[in-house]
Amino acid sequence: MVRADRQGAHRVAFDKNRKIIIKTQSTCGICGKPVDINLKPPHPLAPTIDHIVPVAKGGHPSAIDNLQLTHATCNRQKSDKLFNNKEKKEPKIIGNRNLPQSCDWTLYKS
Ligand SMILES: [Zn+2]
Repeated sequence: MVRADRQGAHRVAFDKNRKIIIKTQSTCGICGKPVDINLKPPHPLAPTIDHIVPVAKGGHPSAIDNLQLTHATCNRQKSDKLFNNKEKKEPKIIGNRNLPQSCDWTLYKS
């Protein structure tokens, strides 16, 4: 996660907006489930402020429009997706269509 606190002016705005979000939002912006704001890190469901567009991708570091409440674990999974998708291949779809085609019907005797 990109830290906003190295940039002084943004830090003040970020802290202000973080408080507003914790007061006004109660669901995770990623999974849509309720966030318990009383949980504390390192609890995976602790509340975290997420940059909707990551700062590294040109998102605003402190604008409230670019911040949302999320679970710590959801936020983590999101950044994994954003930053590792070049290395990861498309997940294999495991479904009926991918069952091994092992039956050779030309040998089938009726
Ligand atoms: Zn979530």
